[in-house]
Amino acid sequence: STMAIRRALLSVSDKSGIVELAQALAARGVELVSTGGTAKAIRDAGLPVKDVADLTGFPEMMDGRVKTLHPVVHGGLLAVRDDAAHVASMEEHGIGPIDLLVINLYPFESTVAKGAARDEVVENIDIGGPAMVRSSAKNHAFVTVLTDPADYPELLAQLDADGGTSAAFRIRMAGKAYALTAAYDAAIASWFAFADAFGNPLGPDALKATPFPATLPLAFARKDELRYGENPHQSAAVYVPRGPATPGIPQARQLQGKELSYNNYNDADAALELIAEFAESDPAVAIIKHANPCGVAQASTLLAAYEAAFDCDRTSAFGGIVATNRPLDAETARAITGIFTEVVIAPGADEEAQAIFAAKKNLRLLLVDSLPRANRPGLQLKTIAGGLLVQSRDNGTISAADLKVVTKRAPTERELADCLFAWTVAKHVKSNAIVYAKDGVTAGIGAGQMNRRDSSRIAAIRAAESAEVAGWPASRTVGSAVASDAFFPFPDGLLAAAEAGATAVIQPGGAMNDADVIAAADEAGLAMVFTGMRHFRH
Ligand code: 5GP
Repeated sequence: STMAIRRALLSVSDKSGIVELAQALAARGVELVSTGGTAKAIRDAGLPVKDVADLTGFPEMMDGRVKTLHPVVHGGLLAVRDDAAHVASMEEHGIGPIDLLVINLYPFESTVAKGAARDEVVENIDIGGPAMVRSSAKNHAFVTVLTDPADYPELLAQLDADGGTSAAFRIRMAGKAYALTAAYDAAIASWFAFADAFGNPLGPDALKATPFPATLPLAFARKDELRYGENPHQSAAVYVPRGPATPGIPQARQLQGKELSYNNYNDADAALELIAEFAESDPAVAIIKHANPCGVAQASTLLAAYEAAFDCDRTSAFGGIVATNRPLDAETARAITGIFTEVVIAPGADEEAQAIFAAKKNLRLLLVDSLPRANRPGLQLKTIAGGLLVQSRDNGTISAADLKVVTKRAPTERELADCLFAWTVAKHVKSNAIVYAKDGVTAGIGAGQMNRRDSSRIAAIRAAESAEVAGWPASRTVGSAVASDAFFPFPDGLLAAAEAGATAVIQPGGAMNDADVIAAADEAGLAMVFTGMRHFRH
């Protein structure tokens, strides 16, 4: 099943390594046929090469749209070499076999990524290339197809060792070739579906008033294989949209530490999305555990914010993920390294801070070139048995102007600020979410309970314990604002918060029992605002 290579067709847009390969093939007696630009490159290197136009008897035409779409090419690629009828057809029509196709496609994705106009993008949809890739990959029993310069050396090694290519190699290259055309067409379909969001169907402007397409064209490339998934018996990998980086999506680089695990990725993402909610003018720190925040704070310095976030729940902060919205300084780095921390993610770190982290070999330090825009559009995917759930990401944000005061007492300015802060954090807490906050610091967080009252209680218990650990005279829920990610269906959850000392409440409103809940709030002297927006996060 070793197939010798007598004639090769070379047609590449990305010409890296092509002249060297042509040289090597020519030296091994292979006849070279090529399309316009590729032929020129080879000829300029002084090698003999035949134009595909001489083979087809047609010039390349229509801006290169039609170059190789001809039976003499596709017959040469598709003919079954040991089928008498195929061989007879080749003879009858003067078709010579093509044993090797070396190809890569018009750069569709990078043309889109550089912001080219529609016409230029369309012109970069390769037609003849994918057709040849598919023809030769189908006929892998006889034909070798190379779609990646990284595979050129292996081809030459096979030729030198065995005088031809092995079946195993041709099969592997055929699989790679179909993966290329599949992803290429997915990228094109994705561009049509999410015109302005191409390159990253989950990216910044996906689905801006775009209906969900009937089929979801996704083209993702594997970025990393991970050691394992959420648990050691699960395998895992990270995929990113194909093509160049999408503008507006931060690029992270890991400065040090062990490689990122599946859970690290998940938690670091949660941390980054949460911290991106806070304006850079206010230093903010979030500590995340199992995708939930266990402490979030805003303060006049990053160090003060970290200390306050840490004090919210020192127990849970152990082994946590820390995110900051400002570049790390030495003092903050020193405080963070005071306990075991899995991952630190920040928009930069000065030299001194980097040196401090360097002493903690295992700590993974990720620096992002920017923070994502919290209100950017995008898609969120979740698998279910037999399918995918797709929704636009929760990019809802509110400001003071969107709030409706529903109690007799309106919140004070400080209460209002704490309401908004608690609400912002609650958006990033698994439902049911209850968040107490005071002076820009979370006091207690209740996450992921099956009823709202339990979340409320857990948050209060957590706050009381933290006060004890820190030696504060009282729980920081006293005089706090409390946020609920969804409405209080009954007064009980709200009353539990009042009992813990909360004086202000922020919640979506809209319960059947709103009147009862408002009456209970009035009776307890609480100020309450409705957001009209819910932030379930399951
Ligand atoms: P060259 O630089 O050699 O002129 O062109 C190489 C590119 O042309 C390759 O990316 C190849 O996929 C593409 N190509 C080859 N044949 C055809 C064809 O018939 N139509 C189109 N649109 N592209 C082709």
